[in-house]
Amino acid sequence: MDCSKLNDIIKSSKNILIISHINPDGDTLGSMLGLAGAIKENFKKKCDTLLVSNLPKIYEFLPEVKDSKTIDTIDKSREYDLVINVDVAAIDRIADGQILFDKAKYTVNIDHHKTNNAYADLNIINPDASSTGEILYGIMKQLGWEISYETAVCLYTAILTDTGSFRFNNTTVKALEAASELVKIGVKPPEIYKYCYESNPKSLVLLQAYCVEKAVFSEDNKIVYTTVYKKDIEKFCAGEDCTEGLTEKLRAIATTEVAFVVKQSGHNISKVSMRSNGIDVAAVCAVFGGGGHALAAGCVVKASVEETVRKILDEVNKKMY
Ligand code: AMP
Ligand code: MN
Ligand code: MN
Repeated sequence: MDCSKLNDIIKSSKNILIISHINPDGDTLGSMLGLAGAIKENFKKKCDTLLVSNLPKIYEFLPEVKDSKTIDTIDKSREYDLVINVDVAAIDRIADGQILFDKAKYTVNIDHHKTNNAYADLNIINPDASSTGEILYGIMKQLGWEISYETAVCLYTAILTDTGSFRFNNTTVKALEAASELVKIGVKPPEIYKYCYESNPKSLVLLQAYCVEKAVFSEDNKIVYTTVYKKDIEKFCAGEDCTEGLTEKLRAIATTEVAFVVKQSGHNISKVSMRSNGIDVAAVCAVFGGGGHALAAGCVVKASVEETVRKILDEVNKKMY
């Protein structure tokens, strides 16, 4: 893809805002901060970043993340010349960030979700990329931008976390090549690994152990799910981002074909996280207005936890048999 249009738009924009998705992960955060850093360094212009929900503690190490605006601190009446969404599969994934997106003179959508419906003025979408971080690395190389150590840390974190430490099926030659170039710039893989995977609070690890223990298996253990209620989170004094990595623990069981976690998110609102070893779970989640990737997807269902479990099981059974 020719990205020169992106270069021109950045050049002609004075005020730029980059937005990451709700319940942020390493890819959306690393992409947002890496792109903001690269724009500052290469174009010498200010670039705001926006968090639309809480920052998970483990990502506090990311360069400049503390300077990000939140939905409470940003001036919502401001008209940005350019708003760029990174790793945002659908516009509702930026929640109240939409107010600023809708006001922008020009919008860009950089993403790798196959369910992305190209909702911006300029859409750079590559479903073959492991992560939005990998796409950004490619763009920066193509456009001849300098990549600083701080930007490299951000992009490496994006690729590392979306490939599950280089072990999911999106761990391609391109993903590894990008990571390798970032290591050449100075990124230290064990240091970033430690921040992303071995900095969890005790409460999170114990809550997840409890949720794995109460997992329910069906269809000869091919389907496994667990639930996370608000009362579980309270019992373990864990944070809202306490389910990161939980669905993968269920997929790690040899017999698993589909694993999912249903988390109580509000009154009759449940958040679903799905992982698969075969069937297309993005298609399952699309039935409920969500999406993602074939083997990793999510959705929000307006129903109780128990009813959501039943609805998801129905759809999974339709796809499996
Ligand atoms: P998660 O289970 O939250 O880690 O999400 C798995 C994948 O699905 C990630 O790539 C998410 O960006 C994507 N995803 C999660 N929830 C949604 C949603 N409601 N709509 C679209 N994509 C989603
Ligand atoms: Mn993401
Ligand atoms: Mn991603």
